Amino acid sequence: MFQPKMIELEKQLNCSQNHNEAIHMVVFDKKLKRQERLLCNICMETFESDSKTIGFKKVIEMIEYNQKNKVENIQRLIKIDVELVEQLLNEFHIIKQKLNQELDQLIFNSLEWIKSLNDIGTINSQYSFFDELEVLINNPQQNIFNSQQLIESITKLNNSLFNKINQKLSTLKNIQLYSQSELILQNLDLSHHYKIIDNSIRQSVSCFAISFNQSGSLMISASNHNIKVWEFMQGRLKEITTLNGHTETISCLQFSKKSNSFVSGGYDNSIRCWKQINEKEWQSSQSYQQHTNFINCLIFNQSENQLVSGAVDYSIKIWQIDFINNQLTYLYSLNKHTNSIYSLCFNQLENTLVSCGGDNQIIIWKQDNNQKWQFEYVVTQNIQESGCRLQFINDDQLIWVTGIQVSKDCISIFELRNGKYQENLDKQLQLIKNDNVSDLNLFPIFYNKEKKLMIVKHKQHVYLIKITNEGYLKIITQIKYESNSIQGALSNDGRYLVRVWGWVGVGFGVGWEVPLLCTQQGRARVDFGGQTTSF
Ligand SMILES: [Zn+2]
Repeated sequence: MFQPKMIELEKQLNCSQNHNEAIHMVVFDKKLKRQERLLCNICMETFESDSKTIGFKKVIEMIEYNQKNKVENIQRLIKIDVELVEQLLNEFHIIKQKLNQELDQLIFNSLEWIKSLNDIGTINSQYSFFDELEVLINNPQQNIFNSQQLIESITKLNNSLFNKINQKLSTLKNIQLYSQSELILQNLDLSHHYKIIDNSIRQSVSCFAISFNQSGSLMISASNHNIKVWEFMQGRLKEITTLNGHTETISCLQFSKKSNSFVSGGYDNSIRCWKQINEKEWQSSQSYQQHTNFINCLIFNQSENQLVSGAVDYSIKIWQIDFINNQLTYLYSLNKHTNSIYSLCFNQLENTLVSCGGDNQIIIWKQDNNQKWQFEYVVTQNIQESGCRLQFINDDQLIWVTGIQVSKDCISIFELRNGKYQENLDKQLQLIKNDNVSDLNLFPIFYNKEKKLMIVKHKQHVYLIKITNEGYLKIITQIKYESNSIQGALSNDGRYLVRVWGWVGVGFGVGWEVPLLCTQQGRARVDFGGQTTSF
């Protein structure tokens, strides 16, 4: 922890007359310089000015308050790197331990090899007097050394130890051993390549959902059971209004890409549509109650006439959505999951819908001739885990992120082969191992198809991932947060990432952090323009 530290000693702060008395007042006059602004008792007797004067203790307090904020920012910034270097250090200890074990084995094997060679020599040097006498008398020609048998036993020994040692050497050369440390090193190189624009607006309410309108000029955030509407300008947020309607915590918000309308879902099991009337006023639809438990996810199709909702009641519900008239029509329910639904996604053609949930199942749904969704099949997955997020990266590729506490901690890729999505283990992407927490159904994947970039939250990390032309996933950078309960959203142009931290249930504030993800030339700049606004 860093502490604010003033270079001067307080008793060194003397007035310009050098009275050597304690300072009592400070003059806020731009024309005066350094010590001329400090007044002791004696100075004050004859002092006269139009400028504001403030008590010395108060000024110290004001400066200390600013410095405390500055140091908090310094702390936050440096912590990212220190943690990464600590991870790296830890990796090196692990590698060292493995290398030590392997090298001990190699040394043991080499010693064993030498001993066995010598043993062969010793055994072959033995002879029996009587046998040799026999040879001497009966068959003196045979008494020539036959090396063939000896060479055979040496070769047999050499082969066996060659294989042993060679195997161990390839373990040492195995890049897998160093891959984790290389990844961390790469992240250290990139750790400041985004810019934090506005570091915090603190609120004392929970926020489980954020969404941007198409142009990125408006942002909505859940604020317990209310919705806050914000003006969003180049990374700065200004609160416009608060909307009421839901009676319990709001868990999902989804802005239309065509108009200033959105849908919301919450722990009151209901869904609502919202439509902007004027700058400050929004109209809510009625409360639509079809689910019998918390709503976990909401998505709509590209033409925005169909809404799909997933909930803790194990069901997926299909709705007709009409943003112009601000209303929903319930159509039907898809019931195949045997636990909460966590994530839903359409493919690009929108003839396939995929869902995943707490029952470890990834289910593919297809549209029949009447445009009605039907169960198609359960995707076979290598890791029997439940995951919180799914995303089609194109019509042939689907990714799924593992989610339980002690987990493989990876992103699996499923590819369309012979008409079915099948796991491609070669393309599986290892994420940072973390057995301390499970992933949470917050912060859906944000995918920018043009830039082939994805923001994927997993446990305590948020990753920026690039999809290569060969369809492999590559981590560009990652940010680690204090907890797994991170909520966030990426603006539609991919320039702004807003994230919310903190569990509010325990009484801590929630803040926004708006790092600019500048992706020109694949790299971005960083510095910390920390401007803090407190509410
Ligand atoms: Zn003085």
